[in-house]
Amino acid sequence: MGRKFVVGGNWKMNGDSNQINEIINNLKNGSLDPNAEVVIGVPAIYLAQVRSNTPKTIGVAAQNCWKADKGAFTGEISAPMIKDVGAEWVILGHSERRTIFGESDSLVAEKVANALQHNLKVIACIGETLEERESGKTEEVVFRQTKALVPAIGDKWNNVVLAYEPVWAIGTGKTASPQQAQDVHASLRKWLAENVSAEVAQSVRIQYGGSVTAANAKELAACEDIDGFLVGGASLKPEFVNIINAKH
Ligand code: PEP
Repeated sequence: MGRKFVVGGNWKMNGDSNQINEIINNLKNGSLDPNAEVVIGVPAIYLAQVRSNTPKTIGVAAQNCWKADKGAFTGEISAPMIKDVGAEWVILGHSERRTIFGESDSLVAEKVANALQHNLKVIACIGETLEERESGKTEEVVFRQTKALVPAIGDKWNNVVLAYEPVWAIGTGKTASPQQAQDVHASLRKWLAENVSAEVAQSVRIQYGGSVTAANAKELAACEDIDGFLVGGASLKPEFVNIINAKH
C-alpha cells in the first residue's frame, strides 16, 4: 500500500482566538484532498478549543510535551494531558526546541518514547544546520538524530511520521530544492532499511519542512520519497489549503 500524504501545520507561538477561528474556518470551507491526512500543531493553551472546533478528520497536535506523565515540572505539559483534551498528535524534536531550548537527541528520544506509550502519534523532527550541510555532514547528522529515536520507537513506527527539516530552510524563505530534499529522504529510507527494517523503510512517512509555500509545494510533493510537509509560516495562511492539496 502507498504511503498516505500527510501535511502538518506548525503554528509555533502564533495566533489568538480570533486568528485561530479564521484558520479553522479556512480549513472547514476549503476543499481538502481526501487522500491527504492533515494535522495542525497548536499552542498548548489552545489545544482543547481547537480540538472541539475542528472537524475530526483533521488531527490536532501539541508542539511539545514532557517525558514524564505528571509531577513537579512547572510549565510543562504531558502526553496524558494532550490525550485528555482529545488531541491525537505531538510534534517532538523540532529544531527550535533543539536549538533554542537545548533539547538533546536523548531527551527528544525519551519524549518520543513516553508519547508513544500513551498512544499519541508523533511527528519527530530531524535536520541539519547550514554549517553542518556546508561541511558535508547532512547525512551524519540526520542519521545520528534518527538513530537516537530507534529504541524509543521500538515497534511503534506506525504511529510515527519523520519530518526532515533542514534548519537553514526553516522560517528563512530558503527552501531546499526538490532534489536536495529528495536526496536526504532517499538516504534516510536506505538507512532505515539497513538499521531498522525494510518494512519500516518502505512504510514510514517522511515529511519535508522548511519554507514550504503554495508556490513550491507541488514540485516537492512530486518527489518519490517526500510523503508530505511540515509547514510553519504558511500554515497560518489561506494557502495552507493549497499545500494540503499539492499532491493531486
Ligand atoms: C516549521 O516550523 O517546522 C517550519 C518548517 O517552518 P516554515 O515553514 O515557516 O519554514
